[in-house]
Amino acid sequence: MSGTGMADSGVGDHTAARDFDICVVGLGPAGRTLAHRAMRAGFRVAAVDPRPDRLWPPTFSCWVDELPDWLPPSAIAITIPAPTVWTKTEHRIERPYCVLSKPGLHAALPLDDAAVFAARATHVDANAVELADGTTLRAATVFDTRGLPTLGNRRAASAHGIFVDADTAAPMVAGNEGLLLDWRPENGAGPDEPPSFLYAVPLGDGTVIFEETSLGLRGGMPQHELRKRTLNRLAAHGITLTGEEPSEAAHYPLDQRPPRKGVAQAIPFGSRGGMMHPCTGYSVADSLALADTAVTALQRGRDPIEALWPWQARLVYWMRMRGLWGLGRITTDQSIAMFEAFFTESERGQRALLSAHDDYTALGAVLFNTVAHTWPFRWRYDLVGWTNRNRWLDFPFDEAPERIAPRAD
Ligand SMILES: Cc1cc2nc3c(=O)[nH]c(=O)nc-3n(C[C@H](O)[C@H](O)[C@H](O)COP(=O)(O)OP(=O)(O)OC[C@H]3O[C@@H](n4cnc5c(N)ncnc54)[C@H](O)[C@@H]3O)c2cc1C
Repeated sequence: MSGTGMADSGVGDHTAARDFDICVVGLGPAGRTLAHRAMRAGFRVAAVDPRPDRLWPPTFSCWVDELPDWLPPSAIAITIPAPTVWTKTEHRIERPYCVLSKPGLHAALPLDDAAVFAARATHVDANAVELADGTTLRAATVFDTRGLPTLGNRRAASAHGIFVDADTAAPMVAGNEGLLLDWRPENGAGPDEPPSFLYAVPLGDGTVIFEETSLGLRGGMPQHELRKRTLNRLAAHGITLTGEEPSEAAHYPLDQRPPRKGVAQAIPFGSRGGMMHPCTGYSVADSLALADTAVTALQRGRDPIEALWPWQARLVYWMRMRGLWGLGRITTDQSIAMFEAFFTESERGQRALLSAHDDYTALGAVLFNTVAHTWPFRWRYDLVGWTNRNRWLDFPFDEAPERIAPRAD
C-alpha cells in the first residue's frame, strides 16, 4: 500500500482482506467526496475507478452557499459575487456563485486511509463488487457512483464551451463578472428553432468559458449547432476567435431518477442517484452536500436511501421534472418570458428551484407563480404541456460542416 492509499487490484494489504464497511464504485466528484467523508468518519473504505487520480475533465460551478462547511476555500477557483441573467432586461443576482478549482477540490478530498483500486468494476451488487481482473471486493454497503448512462433520446443538457483568453473576452465578460443565463437574441437562431442560452464565466486561470447551452431537448442539440451559436454571440460583441481555442462538450441526460428504497441494490449516489438537477444540469454541489447525510445514516444504522430521499425531496424532484418537460418544449420568446417571471420571484422561491433539496412548499409556489406571471396568457398552455407538448421532437438540425463532422474512417 502506497502513502496515497493506492492499491493495484489484486496486490496489497487491503486486497488480501477484501472486506470493507463501504465500497464506492466511481471516483468522480460524487464518489470521491463520499469515499473521503466515509473514510474520515472512521469507516473502512474501498474505492474503485480505472483512473482514480485523474482530474475531472469538466469545469464545475455552483452557488457558494451550496457548498458544505467542511470544504476548504482552496476548492474554489474564483467567486462571482453577483452573476448576471439577461432575459428581457438585465438582472443582477445578489448571490455569490463560484467556479470550483479542479486541483483544489481533488486535494480537499484525500483518500489516504482508503484502499483505492485502479480498476474497472464489471459487476456491482449490494454487497460485492467484481473488478475486471476477477478480484471481488465485499462490503457491508456498496455505493454506485459511476455517473450517468449514455444519453440516447432522453432529455438532455447539451453545451459547447470555448475557452477564451480574458483580454479577448473583456468586451462581454470582464473581471469577476459572469453571465449565468444570457437570453439576448444574439445567437442567430430563428423563432422556429429550439432555444439555447449563453453561459459565460471567468475560470480564475486567465480564461473565460463561453458556453452555449440547451436544456430539455430529447437527444440534445448537436455540438456544431451550439458552436455556431456561441460564435454568433461573440461576433455580436465584436469578439472574433482564432479557431484554435480549446473547447469542451457536454451531452448528458437530465432525468436520472432517485433510487427506490427497500430494493437490495448498490446505492446509486451522485448524478447516477437522482442528484442531477433536472432543470439546471448541476449535481456536484448537491453530491458534496449530501455525502454526510449518507455517511451519518450508515453510522446510525439507517438506510441511506431513506435519509437522502425523504418524501419532501422526492416531491421536489417530481416538480423539477415538470420544469424539465416545460423547458424542452418552449420557444426562445417563451423561455425569455418565463425566465423574466422566474427571476423576479422571491429569493426563497428562486433557491427552492435552483438549489434546495427539499423545500417543496416554496418550489410549488414559485412554479405556480412563474407560470401565472408569464405573458401572453396563451403561452402558459405550452409551459404546462396542454399544447405543443412535442414541439421540438426530432427537430431537423443542419448537418455538421465538414470541418468538425466526425470522420467516417
Ligand atoms: C462540460 C460539462 C460541464 C459541466 N458543468 C457542471 C457544473 O458547472 N456544475 C455541475 O454541478 N455539474 C456540471 N456538469 C455535470 C457534471 O458532469 C456532473 O454533474 C458530474 O461530473 C457528475 O459527477 P459524478 O461523480 O456523479 O459522476 P462522474 O463525474 O461521471 O464520475 C463517474 C466516475 O465513475 C467512473 N466509472 C465509470 N464506470 C466505472 C466502472 N465500471 N468502474 C469503476 N469506475 C467507473 C468514471 O471513471 C468516473 O470517474 C458538467 C458536465 C459537463 C460534461
